[in-house]
Amino acid sequence: MNWNPRLIAILSCVCKWFDEVAKQVLWKEFCHARAPKMMLDLHSGGSHIVDGNWKALGKLLIYCNGCTKGGLFNNIHVPGHFVFRTRFSRTAGKSFLPLPCKSDVLYVSDPCEHLDQGEEGDLGFFRGIFKSFATSRVKKMLIEKRARFHPRELCPYCKAKLWNMFQENMIPRSASARLGAYDDSVEYFVCLNGHVIGISTLLPLSDSEEAADE
Ligand SMILES: [Zn+2]
Ligand SMILES: [Zn+2]
Repeated sequence: MNWNPRLIAILSCVCKWFDEVAKQVLWKEFCHARAPKMMLDLHSGGSHIVDGNWKALGKLLIYCNGCTKGGLFNNIHVPGHFVFRTRFSRTAGKSFLPLPCKSDVLYVSDPCEHLDQGEEGDLGFFRGIFKSFATSRVKKMLIEKRARFHPRELCPYCKAKLWNMFQENMIPRSASARLGAYDDSVEYFVCLNGHVIGISTLLPLSDSEEAADE
């Protein structure tokens, strides 16, 4: 074979393409193995996950991003970390949707607890994903409200722009009850691909148990 530069360039392109495809296939497999029911649901009713988004979704399933000082959640600095067992629930997601958007499908994780964060107290991070965010009522509402994207920060999972649900007054009170967090302490962002990242200040354990029973 004549290894001219052109051929090498072509091969390297094909390899990169192959590499990307292989990675996508692996991430897709990973997501399905990790959360089979959730993946099935995210794919039902004509909805599907765009191929490039499997990696982002895989990461979302197992990685709590925390936050950096001066980032999404002001002065709070909590390093990210892998969390190998996180439960995502569609029922939990309902509590995070504003009233006119209750028909949207949103999966939200249990809070990942970061206790004793100095003045901030006990923090609970959560993450989630919308089914078919592109056609969701939440997205429609954000656009109608002319919500602005965060000026600097991007989605840690897919690098898309983020809307601030707290700023738009779109987080219902049921969210804090669901998390066992103080009223109005819940903040979350949603990216253009429907990934959710949020934070809350958790109530002391005994109080939050009562809240969960309501
Ligand atoms: Zn965490
Ligand atoms: Zn994203």
